[in-house]
Amino acid sequence: AHEGILRRQSLRESAARTYARSLPVVPVRAKGLTIEGADGRRYLDCLSGAGALALGHNHPVVLEAIRKVIDSGAPLHVLDLATPVKDAFVTELYATLPPGLADDARIQFCGPAGTDAVEAAIKLVRVATGRSGLLAFTGAYHGMTAGALAASGGASEVKVTRLPFPQEYRCPFGVGGAVGAELGARWTESLLDDPCGGVAAPAGMLLEPVQGEGGVLPAPDVWLRRMRAITEARSIPLIADEVQTGVGRTGAFWAVEHSGVVPDVMVLSKAIGGSLPLAVIVYRSALDVWPPGTHAGTFRGNQLAMAAGAATLAYVRENRLADRAAELGARMRASLRELAAAHPSVGDVRGRGLMIGVELVDPEATAHDDTRRPPPAPALAAAVRRECLDRGLIIELGGRHSAVVRLLPPLTLTDEQAVAVLDRFADALAAAES
Ligand code: PMP
Repeated sequence: AHEGILRRQSLRESAARTYARSLPVVPVRAKGLTIEGADGRRYLDCLSGAGALALGHNHPVVLEAIRKVIDSGAPLHVLDLATPVKDAFVTELYATLPPGLADDARIQFCGPAGTDAVEAAIKLVRVATGRSGLLAFTGAYHGMTAGALAASGGASEVKVTRLPFPQEYRCPFGVGGAVGAELGARWTESLLDDPCGGVAAPAGMLLEPVQGEGGVLPAPDVWLRRMRAITEARSIPLIADEVQTGVGRTGAFWAVEHSGVVPDVMVLSKAIGGSLPLAVIVYRSALDVWPPGTHAGTFRGNQLAMAAGAATLAYVRENRLADRAAELGARMRASLRELAAAHPSVGDVRGRGLMIGVELVDPEATAHDDTRRPPPAPALAAAVRRECLDRGLIIELGGRHSAVVRLLPPLTLTDEQAVAVLDRFADALAAAES
């Protein structure tokens, strides 16, 4: 079955998809961290559905919540009508929101994918401000629909002004740290305030508190606070895309909480649906001026996703899994830094909570920019991914040069599982280097 399914898939499905091309796995069963393939092989899944599985695969609490809806005879599809299932989800979600937004929030269901919610956020701030352009950041990833793609680096009718996203390892200003973050903030101010800066008053600023696809780049708290102050002073709504960083992943329930920044709009998807498709925006009520009918759609009321999502949110909150992610993530990064000390090809180990990035570099080559860091090593990264897969470990790559190994394990990862993941990774790295 394994070979046949893979062959038919490669014949019928477009190569425009990504994961399937690099993961010759045909999952038939899954539990927690583990996926079992049709060929009987078992894998430790540190991709977690691209971060969608906060509790891993088939968590009993999630399955129970889904069964309960099915057994109750409740309708599975009701467009955007109110139901007890939806009411419970929204109540649970509001209980998690950062103080400052929780008491003044409006919610809009945006339909299945993260990119739909990004689209809604862009539309909302354009309607609310009457302005059109958008501020977004180098290295950003917001999705694959036109507006989200434009903000990620594609082209569309939304005019996007791209600002430098702060980085420690490859600081665009070559200084890093608080100084690099401050330079980025000043650049932003000067662009906005210079009448010849080329930026008309924008409709909003869209950012990820930790860039995921962009290579696991945490925005410094001090920089986020500066962005909040800059946007507030100019009445520019700040949109935080927490599609990947949300629900405890970074060591706080929402990643903006590390900095204390309260955004005007939060874009949420992935883990909020407890492994089923769900995407919403939550925003300050003052922005809620779009007229009825401005934002509608058929699949914006997925009852099973809301039930699975509510159960997931409650489980993460009650079991303090954000704290667990902070603590275990820090220990895993410490282990990876020890590994880096013995492997010059590991240029950087970074991340927040259980959103972990390992940047692979070519230590022999000369720096290609004035950061004087060795250049990224995409071929080595691809080899590491293959060697990981051979050892039953699923990881993903990211970053501008696809040279950053990304680990997104479930927040339920045990200490023993973390050791197994790190052992397999270390073996794979050694094999890829030789
Ligand atoms: N925003 C961020 C930060 C993401 O990481 C992603 C998905 N990787 C998206 C938006 C898009 O979500 P989706 O793939 O569900 O459209």
